[in-house]
Parts: sequence; C-alpha cells; structure tokens
Amino acid sequence: ERKQLHRLRREPTRTVDGIDIKLYANAESRDDVAEAHALGAAGVGLYRTEFLFLQRNELPDEEEQFRVYRDVVLGMTGRAVTIRTLDLGADKADRTGLALRDEPNPALGLRGVRLSLARAGLLEAQLRALVRASGYGPLRILLPMVSTREEVREVRATLKRVTVELREQGHAIADNIPLGAMIEVPAAAIALPAFIGSVDFLSIGTNDLVQYLLAADRNNEALTSLYTPLHPAVIRLVRDVIQLARKRDKPVAVCGEMAGDAHFAPMLLALGLMEFSLHPATLLELRRTIRHCNLAQLQSRAPALLRARDRAGIEAWIAENAPVIA
Ligand code: PEP
Ligand code: MG
Repeated sequence: ERKQLHRLRREPTRTVDGIDIKLYANAESRDDVAEAHALGAAGVGLYRTEFLFLQRNELPDEEEQFRVYRDVVLGMTGRAVTIRTLDLGADKADRTGLALRDEPNPALGLRGVRLSLARAGLLEAQLRALVRASGYGPLRILLPMVSTREEVREVRATLKRVTVELREQGHAIADNIPLGAMIEVPAAAIALPAFIGSVDFLSIGTNDLVQYLLAADRNNEALTSLYTPLHPAVIRLVRDVIQLARKRDKPVAVCGEMAGDAHFAPMLLALGLMEFSLHPATLLELRRTIRHCNLAQLQSRAPALLRARDRAGIEAWIAENAPVIA
C-alpha cells in the first residue's frame, strides 16, 4: 500500500476523464518544502511565515526573512510558491511583543493582515523580503484574515512602493507579483463580488471559515461535532467563492485541512475546485483518490450536494460518490 502510493510521486494528478488538478503543499519549514518537491507537488500553496516569528525573543529582520523566502523559492525549482504574510495574533502569540496579549477574543482580535497593517514597519520589512525573493522564481503573496477591500488595497500600495524602491536600489525582482487574499472571514466570502477585482488570486482557509461561519472555536474540544465543514452553509459559501473566482478567471485553491482529507475530494471537485493545497503527509493519498474520480460526473451531481439539508445528508452524498479504489 505504501509502496503503491510512493509510485504516484511521479504521476500526474489527473481525473479519469483527463482533467489535471493542481496539488500544492502547505509548508512551514525547509523539510516541508523538500518533501513537497519530492512528492511532485505543483508548488507551495501556503507557506506559513509565522513560524519564523515564534519561539524567539527578537523579530527576524528583512535579511533573515529574505533568505528564508528565497530558499523556499529555490527549493521548488521554478514551481509556483505562495507565501502568506504574517498570521499572528493573540491566538498564536509570539514572544517578541508584536502581537497583543490577553485579548478577550483572540480569534476576533488583532491578527493576520490586521496586525500587519497596525505595525507598518513589520509589513514593510516582510514585503521587501518577499519582493527580493521574487527575483529567484515565481512567487505570490497571500494575505491572511482579509475582511475588507481596503485591507488589500492598503497592502497593495505598500507593495508597489517597496517594489519601486527595491528596483531603484538595483535589485532584480519580478515584474508583477500576484497578491491574493485568504477567504476565511465570512464577510470577505459574502462580499467577494465587491472586492474580487482587487486581488489576483484566492485561497479559501476553511479552518477559520468554518470557525467563523458556525461560531465554533476551532480548538474547543467540546465543539468537535459542530466544528465541521459538513454544514450546508459551508458547502454553499465555498461553492459560491469557487464559482465566482472561476467566472472572473482568478485562480482559487482551498488550503484548509479540508483540502487534505481525501474523503472530501469528490465533494470539492463537484463544487468546481481545481487547486488543492495540503500538508505533504496526505498529498499522495489525495492524488490517488483524484485519479479515480470522474470530474464531469461529480459536477453533474453538485445540485444533489447543494440540496443536502444537514451533515447526514452531506455524508450520504459523500458515501454515494466515493470513487472505488482498487
Ligand atoms: C485556514 O484558516 O484554513 C488556514 C489555512 O489558515 P490557518 O490554519 O493557518 O489559520
Ligand atoms: Mg486561517
């Protein structure tokens, strides 16, 4: 079984009806990047930079960040790399004093892009490091916890300014670095038609999207049966985001844990998803499942999925549409 999966490292992630699906890796270390590359990932879909800031007492400066981001880009040898700006907050507090402590509701607090915008020097150093790394291969910048169009526009203005400055300083950097938003705050998902024009790509963070949609803390063990993407509101909203992105020709991935669970793959394919970003640990298993899926057939069954009224109904759809894996 392990051996059979191992053989899939060099195989395409192609459905039975011949459609190629992109599997990107979620990564937060050099080892993850090496593993993603060895498994034949299409690229890195989510590089979590907060790990560079945790477990230390001083902030990493531009130079240190640059070297880490450059090495991620070089490690993927020309495959696409999406690096997320800092996603810290009282929920993932650092020791450097950057994030606030003791917020009454850390999940609803000064985290993600909100923290970056509140600490201008921090955002600028991170963007400079990222723009410099773009000289070494294809790089995209992803913003966490976006809830308004203004947040994206503010970051874009800083990105433009540092790009001009770096070019003047003689750095070889990419011409147009795509800037994308995580869709993990329900308001961003619902108001997407209003701001999709401000972003170059999207990545749906179902870990937080589920938490905020269902008002269920992702880390509260008393809520494990409530905290699930198998709720009609989640399915519908994820479908709407994917469909709008496709209509507007903006690449869209799912990068929450949901994307790494092979058992959910037929459902995500039915909703129109063509890009998954997941921890390397389950990448080959997901590839195997997708290679047994018929995309056109699954998409023809999407209406039945959207009619499901509860978790049991969604689970029944999943059971009925699970591919047979010999
Ligand atoms: C998410 O929220 O789905 C996500 C991918 O980001 P994180 O788990 O880092 O919050
Ligand atoms: Mg998140």
